[in-house]
Amino acid sequence: MNGYELAQNGRILVVDDSAVNVSILNQALEDEHEVLFALNGADALELARTRAPDLILLDAVMPDLDGYAVCAQLEANPETRDIPVIFVTSLDRPEDETRALEVGAVDFIHKPVNAAVVRARVRIHLTLKRQRDQLKEAGNQLQDVNVALVNSNHDLQHFAHLAAHDLQAPLNAIAGFTQLLKDECAGKVSPQTDQHIAFILDSAHRMRALILDLLAYSQLDSLAQPLESTSLKKVLDEVTFILANQISEAKAVVTCAELPTLMADRQQMQQLFMNLVENALKYNKSEQPEIHISATREGNDWIIAVKDNGIGISPKYHQQIFELFRRLHGSQAYPGSGIGLAMCHRIVSRHGGRIWVESEEGKGSCFYIALPADASSPA
Ligand code: ADP
Repeated sequence: MNGYELAQNGRILVVDDSAVNVSILNQALEDEHEVLFALNGADALELARTRAPDLILLDAVMPDLDGYAVCAQLEANPETRDIPVIFVTSLDRPEDETRALEVGAVDFIHKPVNAAVVRARVRIHLTLKRQRDQLKEAGNQLQDVNVALVNSNHDLQHFAHLAAHDLQAPLNAIAGFTQLLKDECAGKVSPQTDQHIAFILDSAHRMRALILDLLAYSQLDSLAQPLESTSLKKVLDEVTFILANQISEAKAVVTCAELPTLMADRQQMQQLFMNLVENALKYNKSEQPEIHISATREGNDWIIAVKDNGIGISPKYHQQIFELFRRLHGSQAYPGSGIGLAMCHRIVSRHGGRIWVESEEGKGSCFYIALPADASSPA
């Protein structure tokens, strides 16, 4: 092996105040590894810092700085902390070994040394170090990728927010002036022109709804509030109050069992139940839509159920409906943006929970939300 290959195989620093011992260890290792020497603790620390050995064989008993002090100083320095240290010692009392382990040693070789044992131990610890280094490298790469992902996610949300925000003003102008046009043209233009104007107005209103949903979605993180004790019953009362017109227009009956108080972002809980109750009203062709909200305790979770007697959802779509922009119907049949359930999913995830649906086409749907019950009070 040439010098390069020996170094590639592992650079070993041998530290011993006896030149004879250094020579014995050198003979055991020099055919397979690059070997460096130090005859005292101070030189050992210097070499460990400047030559970055892969492993150190350290004599425990030396004048001035002994092996324990050297090992402790290696451990305290971030540059040398990760170099494994094997103590080479004639001390064999358990307390000597314990002390060595406490200051950071990974193994012991007892004097007088046996060359085969030295080589085998060195090989094992070099392999372990290589694996640790690879793991560390993989961890660093994963962290870099994670940071890049978080940044790009943040940029994307920022872009969505700006786009949605900047689109609002021109859209309001389109809707406003089209409404004026409609009023001015009333009775003066052909029914076809009337219809065209109505299409423009309808499209502008749909686009406004989409932009508002997109804004709400892009602001989920930036507007998030710390979790606080939140009564879900009160949240549901607010939601039914806000949706009172839609509920009475649909001749719907919304009933609510006892619901728990738990740690949550109150505003986000309102968004969550607003989306679910609005959907339960919208995707419903029953004479009398019925929506029932209830809660049961299962282990460490509260399971909240929002059940409706609406059109139902085929099981093949049960996962997909929680993806952003995923819609199962055209906007002529049911208006919408495909953002609501994706928002529900993010809100529930932020609370450490899960959301899923059980449903069959034509048989109504039941949306379940599992939220951690920690720090909640009983229903
Ligand atoms: P949107 O209602 O704006 O289309 P959502 O993300 O809220 O978007 O819902 C995604 C899709 O899931 C809807 O398009 C609809 O097809 C289906 N869906 C949601 N809630 C219900 C429900 N209660 N009953 C039947 N289908 C539903």
